[in-house]
Amino acid sequence: MSTFPITCAERLQALPPYLFAAIDEMKQRAVARGADIINLGIGDPDLPTPEPIIARLREAVTDPRHHQYPSSSGMLSFRTAVADWYKRRFRVTADPASEVVTLIGSKEGIGHAPMAFINPGDVVLVPSPGYPVYPVAAGFAGGVVHEMPLLKQNGFLPDLDAIPADVARRAKLMFFNSPNNPTSVTADAAYFARVIDFANKHHVIVCHDAAYSEIFYDGNRPMSFLESDGAMDVGIEFHSLSKTFNMTGWRLGFAVGRRDVIAGLSQIKSNLDSGQFQAIQEAGIAALASGDHVTDGLRAMYQERRDTLVAGLQKLGLQFDVPQATFYVWIAVPAGYTSASFTAHLLDKAGIVTTPGNGFGAPGEGYIRMALTTTKDRLAEAVERMTHTGW
Ligand SMILES: *Cc1c(COP(=O)(O)O)cnc(C)c1O
Repeated sequence: MSTFPITCAERLQALPPYLFAAIDEMKQRAVARGADIINLGIGDPDLPTPEPIIARLREAVTDPRHHQYPSSSGMLSFRTAVADWYKRRFRVTADPASEVVTLIGSKEGIGHAPMAFINPGDVVLVPSPGYPVYPVAAGFAGGVVHEMPLLKQNGFLPDLDAIPADVARRAKLMFFNSPNNPTSVTADAAYFARVIDFANKHHVIVCHDAAYSEIFYDGNRPMSFLESDGAMDVGIEFHSLSKTFNMTGWRLGFAVGRRDVIAGLSQIKSNLDSGQFQAIQEAGIAALASGDHVTDGLRAMYQERRDTLVAGLQKLGLQFDVPQATFYVWIAVPAGYTSASFTAHLLDKAGIVTTPGNGFGAPGEGYIRMALTTTKDRLAEAVERMTHTGW
């Protein structure tokens, strides 16, 4: 029997090649020959969700009221818990009914946002290296991606003055991410003020991704974009329970900000999805209302891990800025290596999986990313192995 040929839509054909495929293959081979792999490649917390959050889900799942379709923009009680958390954490006031939307993980909201605002040919500004969902979402909506390179000489922040005037004129939306994956850099109040000026001048909707706002070091709390004067007038901020509460598998996030932007995103969602399971939102309320002890504990753990890895990498002479936030270290590869060849070297010779920086966009070439999502002892072991490996 023969069947007719199927070709995928141009939006799929236009996707960049999967740069991690070669690494995945090498990893499989290393595992197959019995190597003890230390995985510093993945940005997924290694510890389970705190028990009180799980307990709340167990209870909520038995309530028949949660067995029916939820509202696509989320339970008002969850959105109220989000607004309360913003008030407590950032002293930002948001109306739960019109300025907050529940998301099925922030990836879902980031993926859908361009569809609400981008017409074919509109420019979407994206940081590069960056979270791959930004350019993909822009492309799926027919937008033209303009990369804002994150370079060492600019403190790994986008140089807004380097955006050509004709690009700025055609720009409709900007993705921005602080604390940043993969560079671990955090923007300050002065930088956010410049983003807001740029947005007002060029009528650009700012979609700020704050997934890592709660994972920070040395007591330096990152700002929310929405703490800046005028931020609520230019855009929205995405946040997620994934990294903050070890809940990546639960798929629960939210966006907060300018109401017509929240409304546009909500309208896309109401046409495509039916919201997150209410029992999961109930557990999310428990997480957001749990006070600071959960996040304080996680932070203390990551601080120990960061200190262990950073001290070791410094001794090895590797060049990097000590992360002030996120669970990533963004490391320049030694002379004579590329992102790919250094990643391969560490995997081959030391059994350490890292992520090549160019996988996050061309300006990431010359860097690798290590994640702190494994125990302090394993991080110490990784340093020990690198000491013997050399380069
Ligand atoms: C992990 C991560 C998120 C969170 O994604 P969820 O869909 O909420 O799990 C968002 N943005 C960045 C940059 C991330 O690294």
